[in-house]
Amino acid sequence: MSYFADLSIYTYSKGFIHPKTYNIGWLDNKNLYPTGNTSDTFIDCLFEICCSPVAQTRGWHSCPFCDEYPVEIHKNNQTLVLGSAEIMVQGREIVYMAPNLIVHYVVAHKYCPPTDFIDAVVE
Ligand SMILES: [Zn+2]
Repeated sequence: MSYFADLSIYTYSKGFIHPKTYNIGWLDNKNLYPTGNTSDTFIDCLFEICCSPVAQTRGWHSCPFCDEYPVEIHKNNQTLVLGSAEIMVQGREIVYMAPNLIVHYVVAHKYCPPTDFIDAVVE
């Protein structure tokens, strides 16, 4: 999986490159990421967004922080297999693109994304 700093300009999937599109949650095990507790509401909304991914790819990425493969998340009797797609989140005048592994990073590894992204997801 490629590493991109949060809020850097998005360049990963060609079909989704637009002005004002920014990276969120492209983590790896070589770069520190912000951690903290996030609200259940945020996690619920993020899970919902991950149910409608974009930019599906053929390969599967594993999690850089644990051995779970493929990475799965269970919620409300639904199981999502993560690591093969991205999510798009519309913010105020900007768009965020994130790997759908982001929901696993938040739940399992305490990743705490930037506040503006959290707000955009909850809205
Ligand atoms: Zn993990």
